[in-house]
Amino acid sequence: MNTTNTILEIRQLSRSYRSVKAIRELSLSINAGQAFGLLGPNGSGKTTTLSIIAGILKQDAGTYSWFGEDPPTPQQRTKIGSLIENPHFYPYLTLEQNLKIICEIKQIGYNDIDRVLEETKLSERKKSRFKTLSLGMKQRLGIAAALLGDPQILVLDEPTNGLDPEGIAEVRDTVMAQVEKGKTLILASHILSEVEKICSHVAILKNGELLASGSVEEILAEEEVVEFSCAENEKLKAILQNSDIVLHTRTENGLLVATLAPGMQSSDLNKFAFENLFVITHLRSRKKSLEAHFLELVK
Ligand code: ATP
Repeated sequence: MNTTNTILEIRQLSRSYRSVKAIRELSLSINAGQAFGLLGPNGSGKTTTLSIIAGILKQDAGTYSWFGEDPPTPQQRTKIGSLIENPHFYPYLTLEQNLKIICEIKQIGYNDIDRVLEETKLSERKKSRFKTLSLGMKQRLGIAAALLGDPQILVLDEPTNGLDPEGIAEVRDTVMAQVEKGKTLILASHILSEVEKICSHVAILKNGELLASGSVEEILAEEEVVEFSCAENEKLKAILQNSDIVLHTRTENGLLVATLAPGMQSSDLNKFAFENLFVITHLRSRKKSLEAHFLELVK
């Protein structure tokens, strides 16, 4: 595992509300520059997880560290912009006045307001009262508030909830533009297609438990992912790299994990290895189980 650019490490985090176990021993690692989706149905523990890492809620057990620091310093917290549940704005104040209040809370100057309004395409409404905005605009203002102070990381909880298709597209464009600018994104959503469109990595949650995590390509894509090993994993990996059997191969806990090229099956991989004098001692398809987990989630 590459720990040098790990931005957030969550270890065995648990939290209950009375008898309800909202998250159970959740462990995750998020790297700089990733667009990371927390995907799961309602009640799977996404908001609880985000609230803990944003410092709004205390966990019962487990730890997390931002930037390798546990707990994060107030200075480090300023690098994290979050929008969790509905943003609270004053209906009769203008967008600018509302953002000024948030600048005061964040203890930063007002000079960032024009930039964040520009980035969320709300500049023209700067002097409008909050209550006159469409739902999509209100949500974008929430993102604008999170962007004040230019944090390196954006934590967003279901930012497209309740919006019409146009509003969803506008919020999505706003979020994707931030990812393209290099921000690290942590996005909770119950919509598979939203995570697929925006995120590079995903963790699937159900009943507070982690079902799977990895790159979106690996977990949600059509290609089959297999894990396997032989006596000389690194040599096999090297020759597979130049074959047309796999798209890519990596090493994970002593096993090789490959994404097969479209149309290839694990039997093709086995045959290729055998023809090159490698005897595969362990071979298991990961796609089926992950897909099964996922279908279970979205049904
Ligand atoms: P949603 O998208 O519906 O908010 P979620 O995936 O974000 O779902 P959480 O909001 O984290 O999930 O909820 C996880 C579990 O904890 C659910 O069973 C929920 O009912 C419960 N829960 C969350 N907040 C509270 C609370 N304040 N008091 C009691 N139970 C709670």
